[in-house]
Amino acid sequence: MIPPDYKCKDCDMQGVKLWRGYQSIPIELRCGACTSKHENRTLDLAESDQCAWSVPAIPDLQGAYWGYTSVPAEGVAWWKALPLKLEGEWRDKNDTYRWYPYRIGMDLWLQESKNSEPVRIDTREMKVLLRFKS
Ligand SMILES: [Zn+2]
Repeated sequence: MIPPDYKCKDCDMQGVKLWRGYQSIPIELRCGACTSKHENRTLDLAESDQCAWSVPAIPDLQGAYWGYTSVPAEGVAWWKALPLKLEGEWRDKNDTYRWYPYRIGMDLWLQESKNSEPVRIDTREMKVLLRFKS
C-alpha cells in the first residue's frame, strides 16, 4: 500500500521511491530525479540509497517517517519494492530493474524465471517491472 500523500513535492510523481531531507522539518518528499536536482548530486542506487542529505522516505503509518537508522525490515522491503521511476531501467546494489510492455515482460520472465522476477505490474498502463540478478 502506498499512502495517498506519498508524492513528489516538485513534480507530483506517485508510485515511486521518495526521499526526504535527513533532518528537515517540515518533511519534503521528492522522487529520485528531483532529489538529484535538489541536492545537485547524482543519485546512484548501486552506490547508496542516500543522496547527499536526502534519505529514503519510509512512512511509519502513524503520519510520520522512520528515522534513517530505525526503519524496520518490512519498511525497508516496502521501499525497495517501489520503482525508482515509471519507465526505463536502473540498478541497485544487487539487481537490475527494467520496465517492459506487459506481454513482452511476462514472456521474458517465463524464459528467464531463474534470473528474473516481476516486482511491479501496472495494470493501467499494461506494463511490468522485472528485476534481474546482476
Ligand atoms: Zn519529482
